[in-house]
Amino acid sequence: MTPEEFRRFGHEAIDWVADYLRDVRDLPVLPDVTPGDIAKQLPSAGPAQGEPMNAILRDFRELIVPGLTQWNHPRFHAYFSVSSSGPGILGELLCAAVNVNGMLWKSAPAATELEQVALDWLRQWIGLPEEFFGIIYDTASMSSFHAIAAARELADPDVREKGMTLPLVLYTSEQSHSSIEKAALALGIGRNNVRRIPADAKFRMRVDLLRREIEVDRAAGRKPFCVVATVGTTSTSSIDPVPEIARIAEEHGLWLHVDASYAGSAAIVPEFQWILDGAEHADSLVLNPHKWLFTPIDLSAFYTRRPEILRRAFSLVPEYLKTADGGRAINYMDYGIQLGRRFRALKLWFVMRSFGRDGIAAILRAHVRWAQELASIIENHPDFEVAAPVPLSLVCFRYRGTDDQNRRLLDAINASGVTFLSHTVLNGRFTLRLAIGHFAVTWEDVMTSWRAVQDAAVTIAK
Ligand SMILES: *Cc1c(COP(=O)(O)O)cnc(C)c1O
Repeated sequence: MTPEEFRRFGHEAIDWVADYLRDVRDLPVLPDVTPGDIAKQLPSAGPAQGEPMNAILRDFRELIVPGLTQWNHPRFHAYFSVSSSGPGILGELLCAAVNVNGMLWKSAPAATELEQVALDWLRQWIGLPEEFFGIIYDTASMSSFHAIAAARELADPDVREKGMTLPLVLYTSEQSHSSIEKAALALGIGRNNVRRIPADAKFRMRVDLLRREIEVDRAAGRKPFCVVATVGTTSTSSIDPVPEIARIAEEHGLWLHVDASYAGSAAIVPEFQWILDGAEHADSLVLNPHKWLFTPIDLSAFYTRRPEILRRAFSLVPEYLKTADGGRAINYMDYGIQLGRRFRALKLWFVMRSFGRDGIAAILRAHVRWAQELASIIENHPDFEVAAPVPLSLVCFRYRGTDDQNRRLLDAINASGVTFLSHTVLNGRFTLRLAIGHFAVTWEDVMTSWRAVQDAAVTIAK
């Protein structure tokens, strides 16, 4: 591709993105496809000779986009609503252009330093103390994996040379994300040594039971080493009592990791900063700008007060990567599994500068207000009920009927193409979830989605 061709097709691609961001509301949120539909329209082998860019871009528009679930649609309310804003998209584009590999300070000085600066800005915005060190991983799953690996290193320092020598036990709530158990599985802790502490009526970890389980394990000669609290659980966005969990962690010498993947961004809003109360005592915390901070997937911000332990767990420097800057510079490769690292900080920096702290706070504040207004509309509707408290921007609700009716309701809503909701099971009952979080979502969008729910309810009531 010549520079002139790049310019031409680059402009064409950017024009497509601008139109897409403007018109995405007109697309169905979920595509009408069945498994294999897309693949069968594509050649079964790659081309021997290069093809013209025109044809490639056309196939992207005509074959690929219609087969996508539109995650960047303002009425994507399933799971957690994520979004990729204009500034974030531009940061991602430029990241691909310079293509630096941030394994060492030496290999990417500005990328390493911008990662420190952008994460330090974010740290201040969410009110974490200065001693927290930041690093970007791809996803919250990887962030929590690194947290638990550091916790294991601290509790069982022989692990580096001999493998696990102690019967370590990890604690988390029954509402925590599956990534916690997955990390325990990958790190050799074993699922039998993960205690899933029951939650209270508001889906928060029960600290009395946490304390009891730790004491039982101690008495049996096992070694409690880590507790994972969740701020904004996946099912209901409930907030574990972190200050009390922090006290127990301190008493028993456990590593406290706070999973604030979705909800952590809300701490940027002054009146929601309380959600991270107690996190100042945590050993580590994760929050995902690729969730509720308008940054393209993937970008997970990980903070730890004990970077030296994380480093001890992972540092292994082959001769060819030794540099003279060792003492003064941060080499991010020492703080995790990956050697090669993308320049993810760029897109976060673009987003933070372009929206500004107040701009972000105003949008997140509106999301929470709309979720609460929707909850009160649902509460006052004779055919529906709210199924969990709404501390942030996720509404869990049910049609007053059977599980089967709720399941059919969800299918009917999602088949409409107007909106996309997901579900969870609360107290054994099938429950619908509507999450608000796109940078461009409006109250009208929320009402359009709610109308789609009511319209679908008419069809399943029969
Ligand atoms: C989304 C989410 C995760 C997983 O995030 P990934 O970045 O997809 O790994 C973990 N924990 C919580 C609480 C989440 O909301």
